[in-house]
Amino acid sequence: MNILYNSIYKHDLKKPEKFKLLDQDIECEIAIIGGGFTGLSSAIELAEAGLSVCVFEKEYIGFGASGRNGGHISQGWSTDFSKIKKNIDEKFHKMAWDAGIEAVDIVKARIKKYKINCDLKMGYIYAALHKRHLSELYAMKDEWSNNGYQGLKFLQDTASINDYVKTDRYVGGIFDEGSGHLHPMKYLHGLAKAAKGLGVKIFENTKIIKKEDDKLPILLTDKNIKIKATKVILCGNAYLEGLVFKPMKDKLAPAVSSVMATEPINNIDIVLKDCAVADCNTALNYYRLDYKNRLIFGGASIYSNITPKDAAPMLLRKMTYLFPSLKNIGVEMSWSGKIGITLSRIPHFGKLDSNIYFAQGYSGHGVALTALAGKMIAEDILKTTNRFKVFSSIKHMTFPGGIFRTPVLALGMSWYKFKDWLQI
Ligand SMILES: Cc1cc2nc3c(=O)[nH]c(=O)nc-3n(C[C@H](O)[C@H](O)[C@H](O)COP(=O)(O)OP(=O)(O)OC[C@H]3O[C@@H](n4cnc5c(N)ncnc54)[C@H](O)[C@@H]3O)c2cc1C
Repeated sequence: MNILYNSIYKHDLKKPEKFKLLDQDIECEIAIIGGGFTGLSSAIELAEAGLSVCVFEKEYIGFGASGRNGGHISQGWSTDFSKIKKNIDEKFHKMAWDAGIEAVDIVKARIKKYKINCDLKMGYIYAALHKRHLSELYAMKDEWSNNGYQGLKFLQDTASINDYVKTDRYVGGIFDEGSGHLHPMKYLHGLAKAAKGLGVKIFENTKIIKKEDDKLPILLTDKNIKIKATKVILCGNAYLEGLVFKPMKDKLAPAVSSVMATEPINNIDIVLKDCAVADCNTALNYYRLDYKNRLIFGGASIYSNITPKDAAPMLLRKMTYLFPSLKNIGVEMSWSGKIGITLSRIPHFGKLDSNIYFAQGYSGHGVALTALAGKMIAEDILKTTNRFKVFSSIKHMTFPGGIFRTPVLALGMSWYKFKDWLQI
């Protein structure tokens, strides 16, 4: 099976709705490029406010990372909050902290409001493989409680983490009651259905290839169809093609991560309780049990644009290192996808001019942060808050290496992986 076009999630959908391609010129207030979480989240927010919105997806809803990810929804940012504090004025620190927590709340509220059945479960473990990880997690707990969050429980040793995860490889961890996991494709299709119900026009197999130079953004599809809009939102992240502008491109590097789904596990008590787990290694493992008790196990991230032909053997090795009793379990499917990362791991929000918005670089944390991005973009368009402005004022560094930036990044990351291997 072609892993570029697949994830197990797509096969789980009973009758995924198909949307037609754009075959005639169209006008709308908001043109959104990309049918992933960012695109549909922005679409819902703006359609709820009464604007006319169109979403254009070059393949199908969920073709990008939103249809391939691990399904973990985690509170907070994709980096230490201290890094965000260094990058924005002190008067916005509380707003920024609250926004990281709000991201999961937006996801939960939408699931409730639009009755999206996507197997949402709360409960999350950050697992330490050695002492350095444990002190990092201790610092995280301090930082979170200093900011007023009390939902973390420190698990100081192997015995305490074993209440949640049944492996003796961990030396402790943190349990977060406010993060969890869901079925990403069911969630995404639920968002698409909600957007459609609000009047959003969604088009699949419609690739936007260019923007005509004009006062108002006029876009052109690969079939030479014109789209006239007042505002454009670029939501292609690591999958963006055709409309990649320099200020966005230089700040983003793709990393490929792989996921596999095992056969259903009969005796789940030997693996874990109903929570998602991410360990603290640089090349982290992340996993959870899904609605069929299949272990959805992700990891094997590579800092390059190359998709592995078959990630299952490597993922199986990592899984059986943690859970030797699963050595005979079969794999239903493995697949890969591109994660858009920034050098600081802070998401990159901005505008190319007064009418063109973008949000990218969630650095592996996008299931929740995309909901926040969509909301903040809508707030900026509707002029209700200045949050988008604050986040887009963060200076993002350009990846060193130009066209060689992924090899340079891979080299840099090898050092951190080496440190993890040495357990220092
Ligand atoms: C393997 C993997 C595991 C992950 N696991 C997690 C996880 O457990 N938790 C977490 O929080 N995050 C995770 N992430 C990250 C998360 O999935 C992403 O941050 C998030 O899905 C990004 O959503 P998006 O809508 O911005 O982009 P995408 O979902 O990538 O959507 C972009 C869409 O734009 C379309 N597009 C691009 N160019 C054009 C064009 N010119 N015209 C029309 N359409 C276009 C693409 O086809 C694509 O469908 C993971 C990512 C991967 C790849």
